[in-house]
Amino acid sequence: MRLYNTLTHRVEEFLTNVPETVKMYTCGPTVYHYAHIGNLRSYICEDVLEKTLKYVGYYVTRAMNITDVGHLTSDSDSGTDKMVDSAVKENKSVLDIAKFYTDAFFNDCEKLNIKKPAIISPATENIDMYIKIITKLLEDGFAYQAGGNVYFDISKLDDYYKLTNHKIDEMVVGVREGVEEDKEKRNQGDFVLWFTKSKFQDQELKWDSPFGVGYPGWHIECSGISIKYLGEYLDIHCGGVDNIFPHHTNEIAQSESYLGHKWCNYWFHVEHLNLKDSKMSKSKGDIITISTLIEKGYNPLAYRYMVLNSHYRKILEFTYEALDQNEKAYDKLINRVKMIPEDGELMEAAFNDYKEKFMNSLKDDINTANAITVVYDVLKDDSLNGKTKTELLRSFDKVLSLDLVTEKHDVIHPQDEEIKKLIEQRAEYKKNHMFQEADGIRNELAEKGIELIDTREGTIYKIK
Ligand code: AMP
Ligand code: ZN
Repeated sequence: MRLYNTLTHRVEEFLTNVPETVKMYTCGPTVYHYAHIGNLRSYICEDVLEKTLKYVGYYVTRAMNITDVGHLTSDSDSGTDKMVDSAVKENKSVLDIAKFYTDAFFNDCEKLNIKKPAIISPATENIDMYIKIITKLLEDGFAYQAGGNVYFDISKLDDYYKLTNHKIDEMVVGVREGVEEDKEKRNQGDFVLWFTKSKFQDQELKWDSPFGVGYPGWHIECSGISIKYLGEYLDIHCGGVDNIFPHHTNEIAQSESYLGHKWCNYWFHVEHLNLKDSKMSKSKGDIITISTLIEKGYNPLAYRYMVLNSHYRKILEFTYEALDQNEKAYDKLINRVKMIPEDGELMEAAFNDYKEKFMNSLKDDINTANAITVVYDVLKDDSLNGKTKTELLRSFDKVLSLDLVTEKHDVIHPQDEEIKKLIEQRAEYKKNHMFQEADGIRNELAEKGIELIDTREGTIYKIK
């Protein structure tokens, strides 16, 4: 299997620390607001990655954090805590906010057939682990205390910027207007491991620590949770491209300094979903959520289909026109699957051939668009019997999770109901010798690519 690795900046063979076993970590959501469909693009692609790894034979253990403390409104350790801001706005406690939006996140995931990682851990439940790491970083001289906070000293590392492949001055996060530069830092790029009450008096959640009562910085949670649940050697770490710097860069710095050896071999990053003229951003508030799509009458799986039709390393521009097209194609696909007769015995050689083609697309840096092409190749292939087609699609759907072969559609697809109603109406017209009207319905459906076939058992339809 070949994957693009942000750490080496190229596509390379995927080799695990322990044969046939993958330890995988995913940066989870910051639960101060609903996830937008951009966030969910990342989670769909990571879901496909996990399912692909399982499909090709790995035993995968995957962990994910829930950021319920410490993520400030700016990535440069300035601003206020996003969770606290949201709690004040909604007049709730921080933990209530976290619970509400965590549940909402997993609801959205369920609608998109995104599987929950085996291990899910909120940042607030692992404070001991962060204290353990920070204590050692202080002892070993990688961290220092200043003005009440504990900082990581990036000048202690020769290769701090190895993930970004950029020069230092290009990567330094700018200081926002109206925010004072932190004078306590030894280097501008140093980042906070632990905040104390001296910095933010309004922080609701605080813990006792050897460095003072306070709360963890944002980056330490992912190092802590990953090392605690997945051990010292990680195979693959995922997130959206905005996580490369500073979040993942800082995760590497603190984890490897703490462990004293290389931590994670592969870094998998998903490009952004953008609106036509802007980046979709949770903090800006102009977001499209799964509920927005459902309210507008879309099937969430049409969005999953749209995401899988583009490569995870390419920017995907979201427009409703594009979603319309994808929904049409998705509905047509489902209807074609439903037309497959349940006949014959499994044709094993053909089954294995197509399965291999499908796997090879995914093994080629998770090329989901090509994998979907194999779905259409199977549907088109007249030499395959119904049983073989159905079994292939059932197998492919372990990764694609598009509900290709399921009873669910009879319930959720309004389009089907519409076709059925029109067929009934046409039968009624025919019974009453209103042939012109009956032909009108046939033509109306033909224009939508639906062909009606009159059989002895009644009228059935075929998607052309
Ligand atoms: P957050 O909840 O802000 O911590 O983000 C959750 C995940 O969504 C992270 O992996 C981000 O990198 C990712 N992400 C944020 N914005 C986008 C976007 N517009 N498109 C795709 N992924 C995104
Ligand atoms: Zn993270």
